[in-house]
Amino acid sequence: MDFDVPPELVELQATVRQLAQERVAPRAREIDLDEAYPQDLFELFVETGLTGLCIPEEYGGSGAGILGLTIAIEEVAKYSNAAALILLLTRLPTGSLLIAGSEEQKRKYLPSIADGAQRAAFGLSEPQAGSDVMGMRTRAVADGDDWVLTGTKCWMSGVVQADWYCVFAKTGPADSRAHDSISVFIVDRETPGLSIGRTDKKMGVRGVDTGELILDEVRVPAANVVGEIGGFRICMLGLNAMRPIVAARGIGLAEGALMYAVEYAKSRAAFTETIADMQGIQWRIAELATEIEAARLLTYRAAWMADRGQYNKKWVPYLSMCKYYATELAVKVSNHTLQMLGAAGYMQDHPMELYYRDAKQLTIVEGTSQIQLGLIAKGVLDHDLWWD
Ligand SMILES: Cc1cc2nc3c(=O)[nH]c(=O)nc-3n(C[C@H](O)[C@H](O)[C@H](O)COP(=O)(O)OP(=O)(O)OC[C@H]3O[C@@H](n4cnc5c(N)ncnc54)[C@H](O)[C@@H]3O)c2cc1C
Repeated sequence: MDFDVPPELVELQATVRQLAQERVAPRAREIDLDEAYPQDLFELFVETGLTGLCIPEEYGGSGAGILGLTIAIEEVAKYSNAAALILLLTRLPTGSLLIAGSEEQKRKYLPSIADGAQRAAFGLSEPQAGSDVMGMRTRAVADGDDWVLTGTKCWMSGVVQADWYCVFAKTGPADSRAHDSISVFIVDRETPGLSIGRTDKKMGVRGVDTGELILDEVRVPAANVVGEIGGFRICMLGLNAMRPIVAARGIGLAEGALMYAVEYAKSRAAFTETIADMQGIQWRIAELATEIEAARLLTYRAAWMADRGQYNKKWVPYLSMCKYYATELAVKVSNHTLQMLGAAGYMQDHPMELYYRDAKQLTIVEGTSQIQLGLIAKGVLDHDLWWD
């Protein structure tokens, strides 16, 4: 058993830590206030090779894998969850391609994500179908060698900047709840009939828009079907492998918030001592630090598993646990650390209220906490996770 970060990722961790401190941290508040896409940070991530971390070397990336991306996102999320989301979006829409794409699709779409020439977004949710993905209404109908897609996707992160979209649509009967009634398509931004609808006014993680993708009889060649028709399983495998990457946004946020609050508490005089001298505060710091380390262990192990190809049903509980635990922890830590600053924590002079608003998104996206608990419970009931 080896708990060390692999030597090839130690340098990455140190480099991203420095970048995050010097370049991301000073931009975090501005991004939140302006709500403008941080193009400068995207370019920084391109220049430093971070957009290619999860892309294999043969497709122009560095092949640092899920663990490499997890470690980088953890560093960036200490200061800005919007910036961390930009990195996450190098993997979420490419996941299906990496798992089941044809050689031609990989050669066409992956190198340009790695070198930043293109961006992509992931279209699963619909207004009436979030957790219940089988309730999606977007239809893909065969027409000659093409598929014609019609429907509306919503809450799509990065929808405005994306050059192509990984879109899920029903190819089986409209009312079918069978997994093989849904297929995966790559849809290029410039395809006629595709447009961006409304973008959302959000509580947090501002700067990277979420919004609607409208598909009005969008014609997609059969060559853009990922895997086989009815290959919805690819989507679930992709999301399973993503769990540590979302979790990393949670642990980074929790670490950033706790570090900030500890330094504040040490300098804030009260009752002839400092806030950090109070035993109640110290116990809270100890509790949160312990849980952060527990979340990191769960997350790093899950990332290591995902890189070994362990993201099918048997491994789901371990993957879902890290997402559930790390993102709920982000909410808990941001709440308690804001409290540690008192009124100052409530004001925009400090980052605590931003951490607090950003954290909540994480328990909702890519499978809510309740959905993760359901998956973990099923794993235990099925003995995929069992202790003898
Ligand atoms: C900021 C942001 C960015 C997003 N980005 C994307 C994106 O890029 N692409 C994309 O496709 N989607 C995206 N989403 C959508 C996200 O994936 C969905 O919001 C999520 O899957 C939950 O769906 P819902 O919001 O419809 O909630 P619902 O499914 O309506 O659930 C409502 C509540 O009921 C609970 N619930 C639902 N089912 C069960 C159950 N079986 N048991 C117990 N409780 C249950 C849920 O946990 C939740 O608390 C984004 C969302 C947000 C907030």
